[in-house]
Amino acid sequence: MKPAEPGNNNLVDMFDRSISYLRLSLTDQCNLRCLYCTPKTINDKLDNVELLSYEEILRVVRLAVEMGIKKIRLTGGEPLVRRDITTFIRWLAGIDGLEDIRLTTNGVLLPDYAEELYRAGIRKLNISLDTLRPERFREITGGDLFDRVWRGIGIAREMGFAPIKINVVAMNGINDDEFLDFARLSQTEPYQIRFIEFMPMGKDSAWDKGKYISADTIKKRLETLGPLASVASGGMEGPARMYQYAGAKGKIGFISPISHHFCDKCNRLRLTSEGKLRSCLLTDRETDLKGIIRNNGSDTDIRNALLATILNKPKGHLLNTEKSGTCHGRMSRIGG
Ligand code: SAM
Repeated sequence: MKPAEPGNNNLVDMFDRSISYLRLSLTDQCNLRCLYCTPKTINDKLDNVELLSYEEILRVVRLAVEMGIKKIRLTGGEPLVRRDITTFIRWLAGIDGLEDIRLTTNGVLLPDYAEELYRAGIRKLNISLDTLRPERFREITGGDLFDRVWRGIGIAREMGFAPIKINVVAMNGINDDEFLDFARLSQTEPYQIRFIEFMPMGKDSAWDKGKYISADTIKKRLETLGPLASVASGGMEGPARMYQYAGAKGKIGFISPISHHFCDKCNRLRLTSEGKLRSCLLTDRETDLKGIIRNNGSDTDIRNALLATILNKPKGHLLNTEKSGTCHGRMSRIGG
């Protein structure tokens, strides 16, 4: 393997995909206990010392940006529960060459953090919300917090965050009776409502084949409200296929990792909350970057680990909707 050098875009994998997007899981902890992600049966959270420190993450990000990373997403777990998150974001925003910092949140702490996040430089928010019904929200997440999340979305909109993407995990028998309500929301509000196919992740999660519903099926149901015109989603906008109703303020997106792989265009690398580098969300193959850093690894060692992980990026994930295709990695640690 040719050693990685600073200053070049070294981040091209074996299948000629240029890797420019790093997703950081800042913590595995979350203030919700979604039944499909961190259900109450899962209690083994990481000790603080097992998380990469902000200094360690910044070191990795600086090197990764020198090598070609342009966009970062902060996720988790719930990134807003990590202490001093906005200070960290300001440090991150000071890294030369980093063009775009985005945040994925469940929105519970948005009413408290929206202003600080805006001042720290975040403009683009993904907010996860699987239901518009407070009682169902409590059933799915374990928290009686729908009103807070809804208020947070409103505050973010008023403050000028854009785009605001609302991510809905589509689950048969759980929230499929609300797809049209979400679709109507895209007609009246300037939100991007993105339906995500339920992925078989984590061996203790609530995933089962019967709850999976394909993006094509959802789209057909949404078309009962009117035709959906395809709209371009832009270079850095990720894997969603985007559509819009005539005259709508917002858009509809479909993220279909199971039914329509987008692996051939995948430009992502992940750093898990345990400090592991992972080149595919749905393939349990990781490089122990924290081990390298904490054993006095040099910058060259870190660059080589980034490069090796990318060269090892699988052509595509092998998940399907059979239980045998379950990915054992936990979403909250990997960073969804
Ligand atoms: N706490 C933040 C949030 O709720 O947005 C960030 C982390 S959360 C793990 C990121 C996203 O992953 C959420 O939209 C969540 O719904 C989604 N997710 C978790 N498990 C999933 C699964 N099995 N299939 C599809 N999406 C999943």
